[in-house]
Amino acid sequence: MAWSERQAAMLKEMGLRVDVRAAALPVIELDNPQKSPHPVEAAAKPVAPPRPVATQAKPVPASLPVPLIPLTVARPVSTEAIATMGWPELRSAVASCTACKLCEGRTQTVFGVGDANAHWMVVGEAPGEQEDAQGEPFVGKSGQLLDNMLRALGLSRDAAFVDPSKCVYIANSVKCRPPGNRNPAADELAQCEPFLMRQVALLQPKIILAMGRFAVQSLLRSTDPIGKLRGRVHHYQGVPLIVTYHPAYLLRNLEEKARAWDDLCLAAQTYDAQLLKS
Ligand code: URA
Repeated sequence: MAWSERQAAMLKEMGLRVDVRAAALPVIELDNPQKSPHPVEAAAKPVAPPRPVATQAKPVPASLPVPLIPLTVARPVSTEAIATMGWPELRSAVASCTACKLCEGRTQTVFGVGDANAHWMVVGEAPGEQEDAQGEPFVGKSGQLLDNMLRALGLSRDAAFVDPSKCVYIANSVKCRPPGNRNPAADELAQCEPFLMRQVALLQPKIILAMGRFAVQSLLRSTDPIGKLRGRVHHYQGVPLIVTYHPAYLLRNLEEKARAWDDLCLAAQTYDAQLLKS
């Protein structure tokens, strides 16, 4: 298959350069890792009329996975209560959560960003320093790469995008920053899991991208490496789920970007197939 100028432009958004003159397999080169993957200001911001905020909680699918934490664990807010919350209550329950020791070091919780009608959902790991400071997921370097990857598919976290099929809701598996950006511990993932579960239930996305091993641990209960889980369609709460590398990992392992692109293409195909079904 020859690569069109358009595809090449999409890959460039991700920091991948292809030789579009190549008839068969493209020659893929990696952009300079020191360079910002894509200057944010270069992106044309869509102008859209304000949309009404969704206030009605969507019905929850019948079969929700059982949460990781045993019900005997003491929580300030019970798992059962979380499972019935609407968006505003859920957001404030997260903001006041003291269920694990991560609450001691946080500046603020990082709930999630994006439109409540978004068809796409990205699940990452945990807030880092900048996310903790700004209260929004993926605003640091890996966030820039994530935004470029999404833009390559015509998607955005920007709630001003009017078309829900182009909107992405981004949430983390853990809502508070682990000190020193260490990995989240199993109990921290488990305590936060009901929040993520409820976010998915309220959003009812048409496709989920699970980025990195902690998202996979939370959503798929799997400790298999990403390399083993990617390349096929999984499901969470009945929603098709694609596993891919975490953007921070891609920044350290540039050669994996081409695989991440394959994962995005699989997600786009799966999303299209999902739309045809509904
Ligand atoms: N990495 C994540 O997984 N989430 C963030 O919000 C930032 C970095």
